[in-house]
Amino acid sequence: MPRSHAEWKQLATRLNIEGRAFIAGRYRAADSGKTFPCVNPADGAKLADVSWCGEAEVDEAVKAARAAFESGVWSGLAPLARGRILKRFAALMREHADELALLETLDAGKPIGDTASVDVPGAAYCVEWFAEAIDKVGGEVAPADPKVVGLVTREAIGVVAAVVPWNFPILMASWKFGPALAAGNAVIVKPSEKSPLTAIRVAQLAKEAGIPDGIFQVLPGAGDVGKLLALHMDIDCIAFTGSTAVGKLIAGYAAESNLKRVWLELGGKSPNIILPDCPDLARAARAAAGAIFYNMGEMCTAGSRVLVHRDIKARFLAELRQAAEAYYPNDPLDPNTSMGAIVDGIQHQKVMSYIDKGLSEGAELLIGGKAAHPGQGLFIEPTIFDCPRHDLAICREEIFGPVLSVITFDDVEEAVRIANDSEYGLAAAVWTGNVSTAHQVARRLRAGTVWVNCYDEGGDMNFPFGGFKQSGNGRDKSLHALEKYTELKSTLIKL
Ligand code: NAP
Ligand code: MG
Repeated sequence: MPRSHAEWKQLATRLNIEGRAFIAGRYRAADSGKTFPCVNPADGAKLADVSWCGEAEVDEAVKAARAAFESGVWSGLAPLARGRILKRFAALMREHADELALLETLDAGKPIGDTASVDVPGAAYCVEWFAEAIDKVGGEVAPADPKVVGLVTREAIGVVAAVVPWNFPILMASWKFGPALAAGNAVIVKPSEKSPLTAIRVAQLAKEAGIPDGIFQVLPGAGDVGKLLALHMDIDCIAFTGSTAVGKLIAGYAAESNLKRVWLELGGKSPNIILPDCPDLARAARAAAGAIFYNMGEMCTAGSRVLVHRDIKARFLAELRQAAEAYYPNDPLDPNTSMGAIVDGIQHQKVMSYIDKGLSEGAELLIGGKAAHPGQGLFIEPTIFDCPRHDLAICREEIFGPVLSVITFDDVEEAVRIANDSEYGLAAAVWTGNVSTAHQVARRLRAGTVWVNCYDEGGDMNFPFGGFKQSGNGRDKSLHALEKYTELKSTLIKL
């Protein structure tokens, strides 16, 4: 039974929130005693004091991870046995789904309807999917000289650090720790200081499920913790999701230290192309609104550039305005809310400054443009700009908020050129009734995911997720994700 607004509010008062790091199988405060306040962006209330980890905690966690990995308590298990423990972990996440959804909503301002139906079940499903997959993928016997048996196998890489963002805190973390744990690694998660609570909570569930001490650890703190991990000489792999700017730093830290494997899932400025033969403009408009206003626009795949053909623009914009109305921001704990609060004051300020920039650059404000519920919390109205050119800052830079830039084109060639004229290449979409056009345009779009006549279609766990160009390298989700957390080994046996 879905819960009511009153029930969620009531449950929220009963939460007992853990804010300490989880190292070597137990919660503990930072040696320095330092903490930072974790705040609910919807009302400014403090939720917890969270441990501010530093060098001592990073070193201790890496030592525990290395020892646990080398001992074979996890990497040495049969894949079936590891899978069973991970399925228990997923089941425990589901048993605690209400609590986890509440933590996520209070911490990050995300609507409870979304955290309860997407983030938490999605994270549990990810862990379960890799748990089920891991005893079904094998190596190869390579063609070789008849006097040689040649094996090509994959083995766990060792100690993996996962540095993750705040927009889908537990889901993005699970996309890393799901496959990394399944492959037999020891994992250290560094959540964003803006949203550390669910990662801290699931560490205990991992232990309850039977994951050995040192194999799953969580180090809250500021960006420096990510830096310390990326520079550490005894970490084998860093899997990062976050901004392109920090991703570049991470690649540099790896180069400066031990050339640990680096996997980067970075930002985007994804184009959503509406061709004149779009089969259903109303549906395209609803999808376009969802593509930018879902999760307050704090989406790496946000369809933040709508490219619309001049002939259908007026009709499309009329539908789009109407579709945007469904996203007026409201209390994240109300299950009817479609748009919650912006994660914190810094991000709120950044989005508002982009709105000012759009106005000063000569874009026409079609709807929104203002903070909503000022004085109560950090909300922003769904905002749409009609842009005279595609080289404005609001058309090129990732805003990571509920701000859509509409760009007009006159033919398919121009649409593809504008779509690809970006440093990013995470996702793209095209709407057309012609199957040949669909394939031709999809092939030419330089992006890791292309949607045709839909947007943000998740496609289960089966589709690799990641970017071209400065949207990163490597892929989360699907069996390809296991490639990030394993080394390839050739073993040649002379008969
Ligand atoms: P961010 O500022 O790059 O931070 C990401 C993570 O890195 C956080 O845990 C952050 O910690 C940490 N960090 C900050 N400075 C660091 C440093 N110098 N060295 C190591 N780690 C450091 O990104 P964000 O604002 O959290 O997230 C938004 C970005 O993530 C957007 O660009 C979005 O597109 C991208 N994203 C991409 C995907 C994808 O799959 N491609 C998915 C979701 C989000 P603190 O927060 O504690 O400072
Ligand atoms: Mg918070």
